[in-house]
Amino acid sequence: MLFFFGTKNTGVSVAPAEITCESCNQSQQRVYVFQKYFHFCWIPTFPLSKQSVLECQHCKKTILEKEMSPQQKQISLPKRKAAKTPAYTFTGIILFACLVGWGNYSTYQKKERTQKYVASPVANDIAIIQLKNNEYLILKLVSVEGNTLKFLPGNYVYKSYFTAKREIREKVEENGYFSDKLLEMSKMKYKELKVDFVKRESLAEEL
Ligand SMILES: [Zn+2]
Repeated sequence: MLFFFGTKNTGVSVAPAEITCESCNQSQQRVYVFQKYFHFCWIPTFPLSKQSVLECQHCKKTILEKEMSPQQKQISLPKRKAAKTPAYTFTGIILFACLVGWGNYSTYQKKERTQKYVASPVANDIAIIQLKNNEYLILKLVSVEGNTLKFLPGNYVYKSYFTAKREIREKVEENGYFSDKLLEMSKMKYKELKVDFVKRESLAEEL
């Protein structure tokens, strides 16, 4: 994937300036103020500095701030300071903050849902358990009888949570994925395990 980023300038103000042009001796100059901003894939991300430029309307000679005489600066610098940074130049960081906020919220929601499912287990729940050695195991809840839960453990363990999660989508339905040796535990014991994810069929969820 290619990303494009860099800086761009946008005009923010223009005002007449009563200064005589050094080249043509006319007094038809203007002060332009530009806002420099950082863009990422052409989305304005955050503002950088502002610059003022003098331009003679008669002979079109332009003078950058660093080339200005003290008298020219006296006119152009207040214009630069008065020019407001356009709000849209903050678009990228605002979007980024929203994404982070949304990501946090969605992680929080998933955690809440997992806790809810662990607190009230339903047959056919498929859970990812983090083992003490930091490996991940998939368990399938076969039955709930009073306080007793009966699981079928998967025949595989995974080094990463994401692999386990993918296997839930791709492998757990296959014959022989789960061991045929039942694993029994109390609801209390199940809550004490480090359960990272529970998949529940939507039908079961409505019950
Ligand atoms: Zn001029």
